[in-house]
Amino acid sequence: MSLYMEQIEQLVVLQRVDSEILALEKALQAAPDQLQELEKRLQYLQEQEGIIQEKMDIVLEQKHKLEAEIDADDQLIKKNKNKLLQVENTKEYHAIMRDMDTLEKTNRQRKEELDTVLADIHELEERKAALAKDVEDVRDRIKEQQAQLDAKLQEKRERMGKLLQEKERATKAIPQPILERYNFIRQRLESPVIVPVTEGICQGCCIAIPPQNYIDLQKGEQILSCPNCQRIMYWDKHFSPREESPEA
Ligand SMILES: [Zn+2]
Repeated sequence: MSLYMEQIEQLVVLQRVDSEILALEKALQAAPDQLQELEKRLQYLQEQEGIIQEKMDIVLEQKHKLEAEIDADDQLIKKNKNKLLQVENTKEYHAIMRDMDTLEKTNRQRKEELDTVLADIHELEERKAALAKDVEDVRDRIKEQQAQLDAKLQEKRERMGKLLQEKERATKAIPQPILERYNFIRQRLESPVIVPVTEGICQGCCIAIPPQNYIDLQKGEQILSCPNCQRIMYWDKHFSPREESPEA
């Protein structure tokens, strides 16, 4: 193979490798985004857990307060019952009975309130348990996705290693000025930047190249650019790129 053909071939390899490197870099950057949705969901559930715990703390405090008050007044009622046994006159008897009525009435109301509080606690406990289950589910899914993602990333990194080696090999075969021209065009134009010329037509811009350029191209002596789109061109009769699957 002539030096010219070798260079064209390596330029085509370089272009394929560069395109795949670019795609891989994008894929590597996008990878963490896939987990974001699940992590957002987890954060939301954990916030809900916090809100429920705050509510729970409040109703538990109410429960303890009510229980203590009920207990204290029950003690007073017991004391009053003992006093009744030793009462000396009717007036004192009625006064104690009135006190007891009031205490009992208040405690009945407290016990009703306590029932409501207990029902609230029960409901909150159920919601807490359901949330804990959801949190566990999301955590499992995050773990699962993370593992899948890690495996894919590992594959991509290995592929990237191979591509970089391939790129280095191709780069060595191409003279520096042509490499610079290639990089210059690549930064400014859409891929591909190494294009065949078929029957005098540049396949990069679909415009006919001037006859003298076409003759020079067919000589296969130096790397030429399309005068119209600036892409590096080669004659399709000289060279046809090997089909290589990206996974090869
Ligand atoms: Zn062109």
